[in-house]
Amino acid sequence: MSFEDKSLQCSDCGQEFTFTAGEQEFYSSRGLLNEPRRCPDCRQARKAERRGNQGYGYRSQRQMFPATCAECGKETEVPFEPREGRPVYCSDCYNTVRLSR
Ligand SMILES: [Zn+2]
Ligand SMILES: [Zn+2]
Repeated sequence: MSFEDKSLQCSDCGQEFTFTAGEQEFYSSRGLLNEPRRCPDCRQARKAERRGNQGYGYRSQRQMFPATCAECGKETEVPFEPREGRPVYCSDCYNTVRLSR
């Protein structure tokens, strides 16, 4: 399956925004078939609102990236995208490395 950037109009502020290929892929990987109806700004605003009201399921939706620990070589997951040249540690080694500095 391939995706292409799409231009959509926000249903809240009427501004045009881009539904990028990456976002489309992300949506479809989560089984979300509907396109976003709001621009990122309005979405952020609504999310902040909703979080204030109920704040459910926020943590569990955090994206995790697979990584290999630079210290022990164990496979781990980190909440940010690992960059080349930047060592990633598993939680055990992270604590050790941090404490030894
Ligand atoms: Zn908007
Ligand atoms: Zn490790």
